[in-house]
Amino acid sequence: MKFSLFLGKYKNVKVFIHWTFSLLLLWIIISNLRQGMPWIDIFWIIIFVLALFFCVVLHEFGHALAAQKYGIQTKDIVLYPIGGIARLEKLPEDPKQELWVAIAGPLVNIGLFIILSTILSITGFDLENLEEIKINPNTIILYLASANLVLALFNLLPAFPMDGGRVLRAFLAIRLPRAKATQIAGGIGQFLAIFFIFFGLFNNPILVLIGLFIFLGAGAEVSHTQQESFLKGYKVNDALMLKFQIISFDAPLSKAVEKLLNSQATHFVVVKDDVAIGTLSRNEIIKGLQEGNESTLVEKVADFNPLKIETQQDLDEAWRNMMSKNKKVAFVIENGHFLGILDQENISEFVMVKSALTK
Ligand SMILES: [Zn+2]
Repeated sequence: MKFSLFLGKYKNVKVFIHWTFSLLLLWIIISNLRQGMPWIDIFWIIIFVLALFFCVVLHEFGHALAAQKYGIQTKDIVLYPIGGIARLEKLPEDPKQELWVAIAGPLVNIGLFIILSTILSITGFDLENLEEIKINPNTIILYLASANLVLALFNLLPAFPMDGGRVLRAFLAIRLPRAKATQIAGGIGQFLAIFFIFFGLFNNPILVLIGLFIFLGAGAEVSHTQQESFLKGYKVNDALMLKFQIISFDAPLSKAVEKLLNSQATHFVVVKDDVAIGTLSRNEIIKGLQEGNESTLVEKVADFNPLKIETQQDLDEAWRNMMSKNKKVAFVIENGHFLGILDQENISEFVMVKSALTK
């Protein structure tokens, strides 16, 4: 992870914290100092925020460990100032599995809420003694307990891409096709998002941000699932590209630039002695030009570790694989031999054609 600090690893899941997190802490310190708050009070707020984010990590581990039970690995968990994200290598397609993976996070917060409330009732915390809203060693457990309850309820709102949206989709998908279930859940999510944005405009700007996040996330999820459902039933063979541009490994980048500007191609197959050995994308060409110049050799910037996909593999699976590995183009292999390429743009065109034909 770029710009992130590695915090640790548990059950093969790495936890990172994004650099922007330091801005959040800085903001807390500066804004409270300006209001004349004593250092000791700021110290306790910082402790509270760190403890809260530890609960967020536990929430994300709820998702990650539930996914692990179904054989799905998690690349990493990254903490941002607005919350955490567990990057699962894929989402379970079986609605029951998706339901468990989605609900495991909020369940962790409910568990924490129960544990912290029990501690409070054993230690005999008296709410009436709470004179002012201030975090200190006596009140921090109360605040953490409440925060966990809020986290659980907030995440369970039925709005994509929040956990509640996934729970809703999973429930719907038990009876409906997945694409249809996603469409309904996405629609509800966007409706809630508009409500958030509208309400937030007059009350709280953070709600506007969250609303936008939900609105865009819901839209992306719906088109993603639709694309996936159109690919279902097809094989890699159906979208295979046999015509593609090639470039020699020892050619200068100027040659690639020439081809890039003179054709529709956005990436090339790199060859050595007529054998395909790698791929060269537009981004790699641009990067090569920025770091070097036009005479930089193709082999310096090309990707010599292309994703290899079999012709008989399911197209939706191949597409997911390309997305998760961030590859715009993959080698298609048959009986161990290079046959052609599969590229994301071509898959999108394939989907457009198929969806135009199914009326
Ligand atoms: Zn979650």
